[in-house]
Amino acid sequence: MSYQVIKPFDPWRSPLCTCPIKWSLNPYTGCGHRCIYCYVTSYVPKHYVPRVKSNLIRRILKDLRKIPRGAIISISNSSDPYTPPESKLEITREILKILLKSGLKIQLITKSDLILRDLDILSKGIGRVVVAITITTLNKRLAKLIEPYAPPPLHRLKAIKLLSKKGIPVIARIDPIIPYINSDSDSIEELVAEVAKAGVVQVTSSTYKAKYDNLSRIKKIFPYLAEKFDYIYKEKGMRVHGYMYLSRDHREKLLKVVKEAAEKWGLVFETCREGLTHLNTPGFHCDGSTFFFTPCNID
Ligand code: SF4
Repeated sequence: MSYQVIKPFDPWRSPLCTCPIKWSLNPYTGCGHRCIYCYVTSYVPKHYVPRVKSNLIRRILKDLRKIPRGAIISISNSSDPYTPPESKLEITREILKILLKSGLKIQLITKSDLILRDLDILSKGIGRVVVAITITTLNKRLAKLIEPYAPPPLHRLKAIKLLSKKGIPVIARIDPIIPYINSDSDSIEELVAEVAKAGVVQVTSSTYKAKYDNLSRIKKIFPYLAEKFDYIYKEKGMRVHGYMYLSRDHREKLLKVVKEAAEKWGLVFETCREGLTHLNTPGFHCDGSTFFFTPCNID
């Protein structure tokens, strides 16, 4: 079956993806948050320039005729649905209304507290909405270096707090963990403590997987780490489906810190595309789909 803009979820065909069957919708092509580690820049031209897909709403309505009621739609996987232009354009807001009215389940992934603008819509979809807020550090200056145009960490914590307060399950995505940059154990423990106190139900974490272009951006911002990165990724690391991964032991060591911190706070812990499923809390998914439940009153 062919689709226009809502496509079967396929994270670049990663063999390590453990997500359930679902669909993916990117309201924007490109993303203005300009994270230096973003891997999408190696697939999408002019990725740092966000633009709305043409005739988006019309194409969504067409696709919806083919998608079963109750299906999961992930928004979004190669751009942030609350990328800066969304504050004026309100495209994501419009889409949320349409999808909830169509009986679909929604997973929103964002770094932006702009999501709070849509709390009125999201809270009507309780049971069919799960939100993942990506937060990689509590350090404002570091966040500015690695995610220059994304809202600062405190804004994201506020978003977690208010969404959770409304009864919407929120996951913290501590992703990516970049060795030597945001991987310090004490900082990770502090970050997990803050997201736990803000109300998350789950922590999903993943290590930085390098592509040549994002690695060169990281080396440019952190030149004193350039040799180390070449060593741990190119010499000691492994190749998985076109990405440079850290060695299995290295990844396991980094992720165990997050796991232990999450468990200390009674949170579900999941890894994403790591092939380390033994670290995961059994019975859950990295995307939070286990937290959907049925009641919903939107017609
Ligand atoms: S928010 Fe996501 S899609 Fe946007 S630049 Fe950052 S990593 Fe890339």
